[in-house]
Amino acid sequence: MVAPRLILVLGDQLTPGVAALRAADKRRDVVVMAEVMAEAQAVPHHPQKIALIFAAMRHFAADLQAQGWRVAYARLDDPENTQSIPGELIRHAAATGAVEVLATRPGDWRLMAALETCPLPVHLLEDDRFLCSVADFDAWADGRKELRLEWFYREMRRRTGLLMQGDQPAGGQWNFDKENRKPAAPDLLRPRPLRFAPDATTAEVLALVAARFGGHFGRVEPFGWPVTRAEALQALEHFAQHSLPRFGDEQDAMLAGDPWLSHSLLSPALNLGLLLPMEVCRRAEAEWQAGRAPLAAVEGFVRQILGWREFIRGVWRREGPGYAQRNALGGGLPLPQVYWGGPTRMACMAAAVAQTRDLAYAHHIQRLMVTGNFALLAGLDPAEVHGWYLAVYADAFEWVEAPNTLGMSLFADGGVVASKPYAASGAYIDRMSDYCGGCSYRVQDKSGDRACPFNLLYWHFLLRHRDRFARNPRMAPMYRTWDRMAEGHKARVLADADRFLARLAEGAPV
Ligand code: FAD
Ligand code: SF4
Repeated sequence: MVAPRLILVLGDQLTPGVAALRAADKRRDVVVMAEVMAEAQAVPHHPQKIALIFAAMRHFAADLQAQGWRVAYARLDDPENTQSIPGELIRHAAATGAVEVLATRPGDWRLMAALETCPLPVHLLEDDRFLCSVADFDAWADGRKELRLEWFYREMRRRTGLLMQGDQPAGGQWNFDKENRKPAAPDLLRPRPLRFAPDATTAEVLALVAARFGGHFGRVEPFGWPVTRAEALQALEHFAQHSLPRFGDEQDAMLAGDPWLSHSLLSPALNLGLLLPMEVCRRAEAEWQAGRAPLAAVEGFVRQILGWREFIRGVWRREGPGYAQRNALGGGLPLPQVYWGGPTRMACMAAAVAQTRDLAYAHHIQRLMVTGNFALLAGLDPAEVHGWYLAVYADAFEWVEAPNTLGMSLFADGGVVASKPYAASGAYIDRMSDYCGGCSYRVQDKSGDRACPFNLLYWHFLLRHRDRFARNPRMAPMYRTWDRMAEGHKARVLADADRFLARLAEGAPV
């Protein structure tokens, strides 16, 4: 009789056709799934994120068993649980007589190293749930001076035929940004995103997580994430029918009273593998084809998945394990308490952090232009910022979080992901949100006690990095603006910014 193999399925590999399961034999092999402290505490993950992963894993394991798979499932509180992935593989190898492991490559270099040094032979299979393979991304990237999303995205549109009419982009344009990205409209009635009431399995996980991880930042309830493929498909359907038509308009808007606007909330389901990127893009495309959603909205949405999500993943794999330690701009300030819900006078930061605490969710512009922009301008330590983003969002896995945080948001990779830093003063936040009206800082003040910190730090940041950015054609105009300002005003702005940064360094509330 042939010895069984262990088929490792990780918490973000919950796809029936994931590579390791595809290569497995139901009659011979044993699927190993494990809730372990080594993963749950690698960073202080938000309780909703831990609950989402464990609940989705338990549902997925039950489905596999119903289909006739042998599943060795370790719950977090099982007394025999060794609390690490290699430990669970070794335990189940001893119990089943298995001598080898099949695994789909993890999206995390730390876990990849743990599998590579596991005493059992582990055969790592490429994760092919992406629309661009690692080999194809490398072939596209090799020999290019710069990797730019726009060129990659066009190539992906041509290759997949998404939103194409022959060899031309639908509507004659690749990009509808000019029509999209409007400021927030506070009084609009918007459909609510679909949230799911926890069933008995999820309720049990929520109780476990509340008991074991109650000290982590974030509320475990109310919990409404889809934890099965069936729920994820309902969420996709609801988004496509109700919110997609306004997606483009509201893509960059922020409202204090509405954490969701017209976003899809599909990233957790996509990143866990409950949904596949192509089916999500095709579903959106179908709404445009049926005349129910404008092309601009659908193109804006498809670009996020076909373009950004794939581009980010390609960069993560290409740049390798050292990426998360990059610090091209030399940021060194520790992460201030405001990120963990500490007191602040900044209404925009308070709103973004509060909804992160309550929902394990903030949409892209809150992550990029509020919490990320602040971290960039203040010169926070990129490793600490990376640890925070990895911990606090339900959709955070290293392969997607690290390039977004270190590359797009902090420019810590020196310009691999972005051609220039996403740095902005308070005027941007004021234009795109309703935060500033309720803030004790004044967005129109450029210096003084009540000047918006983004206004002070913006110029401080530009001057700290003048040597690096002054020749960038898209940033040079800002340096010319600064040079034209009165000397007295410039001195006041820089002195106020220095004072603000000193308070931040002392750990004083800002
Ligand atoms: P929507 O606005 O509805 O967008 C649709 C989908 O597009 C998303 O579900 C997501 O799958 C994809 N997408 C959009 N933008 C990006 C992007 N920049 N990179 C990759 N995919 C994208 N996304 C994560 O999935 N996990 C993370 O850990 C993560 N960390 C981030 C950290 C920072 C500092 C920044 C600036 C962005 C980060 N993002 C991350 C990207 C983006 O913010 C989220 O994908 C998005 O907010 C998820 O919400 P949604 O599903 O409602 O997205
Ligand atoms: Fe944020 Fe500045 Fe507006 Fe206050 S004034 S909400 S700190 S951008």
